[in-house]
Amino acid sequence: MMLAYMDHAAAAAEPDTIEVAMVADAAECAAARDFGGLVSARPAAVVRPASVDDVASAIQAAALTAHLTVAARGNGHSVAGQAMAEGGLVLDMRAVSRRMPMQLVLLSSGAAFADVPGGALWEEVLHWAVSNHGLAPASWTDYLRLTVGGTLSNGGVSGQSFRYGPQVSNVVELEVVTGDGKCRVCSPSSHPDLFFAVLGGLGQFGVITRARIPLSPAPQTVKWTRVVYASFADYAADAEWLVTRPSESAFDYVEGFAFVHSDDPVNGWPSVPIPGGAHFEPSLLPAGSGPVLYCLEVALYQQAEDVDERMGQMMRPLKYVRGLEFAADVGYVEFLSRVNRVEEEARRTGSWAAPHPWLNIFISARDIADFDRTVLNGMLADGIDGPMLVYPMLKSKWDPNTSVALPEGDIFYLVALLRFCRPYPGGPAVNELVEQNSAIIDACRCNGYDFKIYFPHYRTQSDWAAHFGSKWSRFVDRKARYDPLAILAPGQKIFSRTP
Ligand code: FAD
Repeated sequence: MMLAYMDHAAAAAEPDTIEVAMVADAAECAAARDFGGLVSARPAAVVRPASVDDVASAIQAAALTAHLTVAARGNGHSVAGQAMAEGGLVLDMRAVSRRMPMQLVLLSSGAAFADVPGGALWEEVLHWAVSNHGLAPASWTDYLRLTVGGTLSNGGVSGQSFRYGPQVSNVVELEVVTGDGKCRVCSPSSHPDLFFAVLGGLGQFGVITRARIPLSPAPQTVKWTRVVYASFADYAADAEWLVTRPSESAFDYVEGFAFVHSDDPVNGWPSVPIPGGAHFEPSLLPAGSGPVLYCLEVALYQQAEDVDERMGQMMRPLKYVRGLEFAADVGYVEFLSRVNRVEEEARRTGSWAAPHPWLNIFISARDIADFDRTVLNGMLADGIDGPMLVYPMLKSKWDPNTSVALPEGDIFYLVALLRFCRPYPGGPAVNELVEQNSAIIDACRCNGYDFKIYFPHYRTQSDWAAHFGSKWSRFVDRKARYDPLAILAPGQKIFSRTP
C-alpha cells in the first residue's frame, strides 16, 4: 500500500490508495478545529484511510520520520483539541468507517454482537442494529453523533450507565493499530493489557479500527418521565436509591439536571417538559424554593406487560414535587435520539457553531451536596445557558483495568456543564466562561472533593500524573509498550514525540 498525496478526484478514482489532503488553510480544515471551538491546531495533512491497512501504513510512515504525530479524529466533538495534531497527520476515522460495513456476529450460545468500525457514529450503530436485526447495544451516550472509537477512548456515559455500565464496559473485543503500526485484535482474554489500556486510554495506545459490541433485543417503546425537586437532599437521596436498586426493580435509565428557578427559556422551567408531557406549573413549587431546582429523568423500557405497575411502584416513594411530573411513551429510537432536537435548536440560534467551554466532572456522592451548595447554588445560580447534568452512577460498573480515572467513592455523580451560549457579543465572552470553569475546579480542589475531570485537558505532565493518581505509572508503562515513540493522539498533550 502506497502512501500517496493526491487530490480528492484522483482518490475517488483510485479507491485502494490512501487519500491524503495537504492542508492549505487551517481555517478551511475541519481537522484543525473541534466542537469546543477554543483551540485550533493545523495538521500537516489529513489522511482518509480506506482500510485498516491504510491506518497502519499512515502510522508506520509517521514512525519513519523524526517528528510526525498521528491523531485519530472521530467526529471532532472534543472541546479542547484532543483530536488534533499540530504539524502531524490527522486520520479521518469517518472515512474508513464508510468503507467497512457493520456486521452481525451470532455465537452458537445465541449471544449477538455488532462488529462496528471505530469511526462509526453511535447513531449509525443504533439504526443499523434496530432496523436490520431488532437488536441494540445496552449502553449509550445522550447524544449519538459521536464515534465508537471516540467514546471508547473516554468512557461513554448516559442514564444507562448505572445499570448497564458505561460504553467501555460494553465491548468484548477491539481491533487496534498500535503506535508501532501493527494491527492487533484484543479482548479480556487475548492481549487483555492492550484491550484495557485502550478503553478510556484517550487515544494514547492505539487507533480503534473495530469494536465488538454486545447486542440484546431492542425495546419497542420507552416510558419516559421527568419529575421536579426543590430540595437537593431529596433529589440526591432518590437518585441514589434508584441507581442502587436490584436490576429486577430498577429503571433502565436514570439521569437528571439542575435548572434555574425562573421562566428563562434555556435555563429555567421551560427546559423541563418533554414532548407529549404536561405543562410546567410553577405555582406548584413549595414556597421558599431556592434559586436552583432539580429534574430527575427516568425511563423504563416497555418489554413486559406489567410496565405501568412497575413504573408506579418505583415512582410512588420518590419525594418529588407532586404535580410537577412530565411523562410520555415514546419509541426507543426516538428516545435515544432526543438530543437531536437540542442540536437543531442550537444550530438555529447559532450556539452550535459558537465556542463550547464545557466542563465535565465525576464527583463522589460524599461531596455532591457540598458541590451543589458551593457551585450550583453559588457560582452557577443564574444557569449556564445550557443543561447542568447531575446524576449518579456506580463505580462497580467500571472495570478498574481500563485507563479511565475515577473518584474513590462507590457512587459518583457526573456533573456536566454543557454551555450553549450565543456567540459574543450577543452572548458572554468565552474567556470569562473558561475562567469560571477554572474557578469551579479550584473550588473542588480547595474543598478537598473526591473528583476527576471527565474529558480532561492538562498542559503539564505533573497535572496528568495527578489526574491518573495511582494509575499513572501503569499508564506510562503502557505508553512505552504500545506507542514508544509517542506518535498517537498528541492533542491530549500527555507525552512528547520521541525523535
Ligand atoms: P473525537 O473528539 O474526534 O476524539 C476524541 C479523542 O479520541 C481524541 O483524542 C482522538 O484522537 C481519540 N479518538 C477518536 N477516534 C479514535 C479511534 N478510533 N481510536 C482511538 N482514538 C480515537 N460523552 C459522553 O460520555 N456522554 C454523553 O452523553 C456525551 N454527549 C455529548 C454531546 C455533545 C453535543 C458533544 C459535543 C459531546 C458529548 N460527549 C458525551 C462527549 C464525547 O464523548 C466526546 O467528545 C468524545 O471525544 C467523542 O467524540 P468524537 O467521537 O467526536 O471523538
